[in-house]
Formats: sequence, C-alpha cells, structure tokens
Amino acid sequence: YGDHRALHSFPTRRSSDLIRTLSDLDLKGQRVFVRADLNVPLDGKGEVMDETRIQAILPTLRHLADHQCPVILASHLGRPKGPDPSASLVGVAKRLAELIDGTVLFPGEVVGERVTSTAEELKAGEVLLLENLRFHPGEKGGDPEFARALRDLADIYVNDAFGTAHRKDTSTYDLAFLFEQRAAGLLIEKEVAALSRIVEDPERPFVAIVGGAKISGKLEILKSLIHKANLLLVGGGLANTFLAAKGYQIGKSLVEEDLLQEARNIMALAQQRQVMIRLPTDAITTDRIDSKNRYHIQVNVIPVNHLIADIGEQTVGKFQADIARAKTVFWNGPMGIFEKSGFAGGTRAIAKAVAACEGFTVVGGGESVAAVHQSNVADRINHISTGGGASLEFIAGNSLPALEALAL
Ligand code: ADP
Ligand code: MG
Repeated sequence: YGDHRALHSFPTRRSSDLIRTLSDLDLKGQRVFVRADLNVPLDGKGEVMDETRIQAILPTLRHLADHQCPVILASHLGRPKGPDPSASLVGVAKRLAELIDGTVLFPGEVVGERVTSTAEELKAGEVLLLENLRFHPGEKGGDPEFARALRDLADIYVNDAFGTAHRKDTSTYDLAFLFEQRAAGLLIEKEVAALSRIVEDPERPFVAIVGGAKISGKLEILKSLIHKANLLLVGGGLANTFLAAKGYQIGKSLVEEDLLQEARNIMALAQQRQVMIRLPTDAITTDRIDSKNRYHIQVNVIPVNHLIADIGEQTVGKFQADIARAKTVFWNGPMGIFEKSGFAGGTRAIAKAVAACEGFTVVGGGESVAAVHQSNVADRINHISTGGGASLEFIAGNSLPALEALAL
C-alpha cells in the first residue's frame, strides 16, 4: 500500500501533510545542517535585544540533541552587503549557548577551513553556528559553489527558517536539493499546520483583520482573502487608501494615491463575491505626527490639516462584535500608529478582542505580533506566526520556495 500520506493528498503542495518533517528522517547520530531565522535585533554593542527568534528554534535543536546529532546552524541577520561586524552573529552565539546550556562554537566565518575543521570535530549535541550567511556573496542567486561548500558540512538538511521561507536564497532553496535527506524543522511544521487550517478549510465565519502601513504589499493579500474570508475588517494606514478611494477627504493621512483604482477593484470584487469589507467610520486624528493632540472625528468630516492615527471607538465596537462571532480569525497589521501610546487604543482593543474570541486565531506580521505582546495577550492567541512576509504569502496562496524544496 506504500505511503499512507498518498491516500489523502491535497491538490496543493502547501498542506502540512505534503512537506517532509523530522519524523521522516533517520537522524540518529547524523550531522545536521539547520537553516534557521536568527535575524534578531541587536543593540549598538551587538547584544541581542529580542530573542523571540532564538527561542523559536530551540524545540528543533532539542530534538536533534536527543538524537545525538551534531548541528551546523546557519542564518542571515539584517541586510549586509558583505562582511560587516555590526551584523555579526557572535552575540546570537553567546545568547544561544546560555539558552541551550550547552556548547555553541562560533568560528567567525561562513565557510572556510576553520568551519570545516570545527564541523568535523563537532560532537553529539554540540552546535556550530556559522557567521551571517549574507556576508558571503553566494547566499543570493543560488551560487553552486557556495551551496556545495555548505553541503559538505553535513549529512542531513533541516530548514526551520519560516520567516525566510518566501525567499529563494541559496541556503533556503538550492542547498536543500543537494541533500537526499531533507525536512522542515518543528517551527516550520507548526507554522504550516496552523496557516493551512486557515487557507484550506477555515471554520466559518472567517474574519480577516488587516491594517498596517505596507499598503502596496497588502492589497494583493486582501484580494486573495476575498476568496477565503467571509468578512474583512480594514484598519490602520491601509484603510485610508480605501476611504480615499470611496471619495472621503482624509486630510494629511497616509495614503497611496497610485493604488486608489486597485482599492476600488478590490471593493468591487468583494461585492461580487458577497464578502463584506468593513472600513472605519470614526477615527482618532492628530494635527501633527509628532504631537500628542488627539481628536475623535467621524471619517466623513476629517479636517484637511489632520491625519488619521487610529480607529475610533465606534469602529472598535463594530470590529469587536464581528470578532466575537468569528470561528476563524486572521490578523495582520496594526489599527493605528500604536508605537505612540495615544494612538495605540484601537490596536490594543483589537488584540484583546482576538484573544477573547473562541474560534481559531492566528496573528502574523512583525508589528502586529509586537502589538499582541504589548497587550499581554500572546498566550491567548492560537498561533502567532514568526514570519511576516512569509505568512502573508502563504495565506495568499502563493508558493514558498523553501517549502517547495521540502515537498514530498
Ligand atoms: P505588520 O508588521 O504587522 O505587517 P506593517 O509593517 O504593515 O504591519 O505596518 C506597521 C506600521 O503601520 C506601524 O509602524 C504603524 O505605526 C503603522 N500604521 C498603522 N496605522 C497607521 C496610520 N493610520 N497611519 C500611519 N501609519 C500607520
Ligand atoms: Mg512591519
């Protein structure tokens, strides 16, 4: 009868049933190359400021240690154009050693003699962390020689860098194919399982909440959500473009003039598919981005010298009621300029409403996740995605190169 998975395969390659996972591997004592996303913020002295992404890789490292595997760990950090001490992973190595309470060797180069000899002598449960992959020009563009050099360090390939899964870099894509034994780590497995539940067969009503500021990138996501969700709640900077597209004067608010027509197309598509797009009806505005002045104003009478900085309480109330009834919630993008306490109220209220929702709740996106932590509700959200761009691409139904490389 062969592989039982073939009996219930999905038409899409995206399903968690269709990528190779650690349980598909024969790990015992094997040397494992792990591509992680350790792209953490560093302070001026190279110390790790937020270790969420280091924490996220620990389950996979523990699993490999339990199987007596020596681990060669690799990641990028920031966007250096070449070797750059301010983007070194040395601080990550230090913090990781504390967290696993074990040995983390850091030869300080991406590939080379020191890495090779350290890898050869690496013992079970020890970790060798390579220097920032982006210090090497071969990380971009699928350089076969660079891929070969990384390949020679290990027997098995594991990718657990969900945050980078939408990029076709040498270490996230080309390298995978050089290993017969390759699989997703526990973090990617968890991400794919949670996000698949939203993409494939969400319990209804499915309410998607979208906000934030990266408007051009998010309109495509909104469009694909129209095919999946029952109701779209649009807030944050993103809502402004829709309000403007409907003809409202919104003063000095953040808006993408080039995208007004696209916003109209999206509203027409939603109407055609009988999906409701709920826009803010009231807002918290200010007269200067750097001022603490705040005014509560209906969106149809925004003064020309004001800008929308948060959703208003009437809008919050409607969004809350929609979220309370939802069986599935996906949230990306804050409702206002939440970094400033005077304009954080809408985002915090939505975070609490999502936490209180009894349905299956998922939050993705750098700032949205920060807002969830700020509101102290992280433990009441079913899944917090570690990948901003990657989770959006996944939800939109786009194929992720790193997952493609791990397909069964
Ligand atoms: P995420 O990281 O969650 O995907 P984005 O990166 O798209 O979200 O957007 C986050 C940013 O959006 C925040 O820094 C926030 O200040 C900004 N933002 C939210 N609402 C507004 C608004 N009305 N005007 C300007 N900026 C906004
Ligand atoms: Mg962001």
